[in-house]
Amino acid sequence: DGDETDLQRLIGRRQRVLGGAYRLFYREPVHLVRGEGARLWDAEGREYIDMYNNVASLGHCHPAVVAAVTEQMSRLNTHTRYVHETIVDYTERLLETFPAHIDRAMYMCTGSEANDLAIRVARQYTGHRGIIVTAEAYHGTSDLTSGASPALGSGQPLAPEVRTVAAPDTYREGDAAGARFAADVRAAIADLDEHGYGVAGLLVDSILSSDGVLPGPRGMLSDAAAAVRAGGGVVIADEVQPGFGRTGETFWGFDRHRLDPEIVTLGKPMGNGMPVSGLVARGDVLAAFSDHLPYFNTFGGNPVSMAAASAVLRTLQEERLMQHSARVGEELLERLSMLALTHPLVGDVRGAGLFIGFELVSDRDTKEPATVAALRVLEELRRRGVLTSVAGPHGNVLKLRPPLAFQSSDIDPVIDALDEALSVVEH
Ligand code: PMP
Repeated sequence: DGDETDLQRLIGRRQRVLGGAYRLFYREPVHLVRGEGARLWDAEGREYIDMYNNVASLGHCHPAVVAAVTEQMSRLNTHTRYVHETIVDYTERLLETFPAHIDRAMYMCTGSEANDLAIRVARQYTGHRGIIVTAEAYHGTSDLTSGASPALGSGQPLAPEVRTVAAPDTYREGDAAGARFAADVRAAIADLDEHGYGVAGLLVDSILSSDGVLPGPRGMLSDAAAAVRAGGGVVIADEVQPGFGRTGETFWGFDRHRLDPEIVTLGKPMGNGMPVSGLVARGDVLAAFSDHLPYFNTFGGNPVSMAAASAVLRTLQEERLMQHSARVGEELLERLSMLALTHPLVGDVRGAGLFIGFELVSDRDTKEPATVAALRVLEELRRRGVLTSVAGPHGNVLKLRPPLAFQSSDIDPVIDALDEALSVVEH
């Protein structure tokens, strides 16, 4: 029909040829054509502030990554069955960011593959089968990881060896959240033992992103980790969300909570948009798997991926982006918290570095989640040039997690847009 816009035509073509699982954000979807730093532009030339993307972690189209990838792609790209310095150079530098006993690395292309391998390694090392995850966790798309991802909903049954434990939420549970979480983890271990599975591991994202962004006080998860070890399991820290300096205080999210993991999985921000992921582990833990079973990942660890990952790590360190995340994150958190003074919808504002949860409630006493209002706020923000999304079991927590190129000077336009969006939805 002649009245159809270019955007509607493109969406129609997309719907005719893509699998039905693809979802678009927003009632009027956004067609992005360019990005730079924390800014994005759509096909009409409209500018947006990206408050959502930790994959383009340094910033969209960061020149250091573009140059490294372009250079390596035009010289050579092969796989890990030939010797190449990129993977060795990168691994040596990467391992320096971990405690000394984490001394081996392997590479894949997605967070799902990293978690899939982590589960296999944990099972091989412990001789147990059970996996414990948080109640709204998302860990990946493979059979093993989707079976350990309650966030996928009731259509995706959990594996019989998986147990879920409600994430510690200090907004709703107060200071007891960490102890309650540890007690529930102990109960899950007892149940796994009773069923003859035993506990192989606790697989946990330490910023609890899909559980609603629950940074909690430092050390909140350490008792649970101790319980898992006492039960004969290992701790797998899923750093796909909090890793690479994002949470400001520590380079790895697990350090904030003193998890001391045996296995760590890496993804999203690792290649600034290139599909690069990894697993690092204690050598003896990994050996229980890799001394006995083959593992080859065609694209994992290839020279172009490693060039991208090297450029990301170097830039994070040289530009002190972890410190930047801590400083600008704190400023943003303070300004966001002030919105609670004038907007009754704001229930709680919490974060670590540039990873902030902004929780909306319809009643501050009962803390009733304001799910519909949160969706409307997202739409109003989009109209005002700010892109983000929601998290948590009720979808009422705005997830604010911009590329680390986000600056103090970007705070005003975000606060103004949010102030207006909240006013529109409240009235
Ligand atoms: N773990 C966590 C915590 C994630 O957020 C995600 C992706 N949202 C994954 C694993 C899976 O990563 P990927 O999509 O790269 O497979």
